Amino acid sequence: MGMPGVGKGTQAARLCQDLGVPHVSTGGILRQAVASGAPLGLRARSYMASGGLVPDDLVEELVVERLGRPDAGDGFVLDGFPRSVEQVAMLDRILARLGQRLDGVFLLTASPAEIIRRLGGRRVCPRCDRVYHVDNQPPRSPGVCDACGSALVQRPDDAESVVRERLEVYARQTLPIVEGYLARGVLREVNGVGEPQDVAVRLRLAVGQA
Ligand code: AMP
Repeated sequence: MGMPGVGKGTQAARLCQDLGVPHVSTGGILRQAVASGAPLGLRARSYMASGGLVPDDLVEELVVERLGRPDAGDGFVLDGFPRSVEQVAMLDRILARLGQRLDGVFLLTASPAEIIRRLGGRRVCPRCDRVYHVDNQPPRSPGVCDACGSALVQRPDDAESVVRERLEVYARQTLPIVEGYLARGVLREVNGVGEPQDVAVRLRLAVGQA
């Protein structure tokens, strides 16, 4: 968990490599569906463009489908889900049906000023969803994805007006779930400021303690 741009995608990808489990990013799956013109993408597109949350029935369908695949049988890292009190209940239902349990919730933290700076310089690969930053984490060749060679783009929802709405949606709909997870004793805060490899070490430590 964490504010938009705090480093969830980057850190979840590293953690998954480390643990050998799939990275389940609802935003990433939705972006791929938009790019390919799949029905899910057509329904989700307008919500994403405005910075709001896509409806729960769409999210449930995609999460159930993804977590039901064989590669998720030994665990997974969720990134960007759950994002509301309703989605916390949704995840509990899905995990109960799958016979899996929630081992931990990790909240990455950074100041709003740091978030704005990071989002302004963020570039992503439209094909494999890998994340870069023009100053902090540049690709080996400018504008080109290290992993698949595609031309990097700025996410349309990283435009300033949409970022403002996404931060408001986070404060209004996502932040309230922190309390619930704190009360359950599963939430751990991880300082998300610093070099990505240093944050990765802190996150790995917190995961080990969960
Ligand atoms: P993200 O890449 O996590 O920042 O997600 C990008 C956009 O996808 C969000 O602003 C939402 O419009 C949508 N999205 C991603 N995950 C969810 C979710 N769990 N529930 C609803 N909408 C989501």
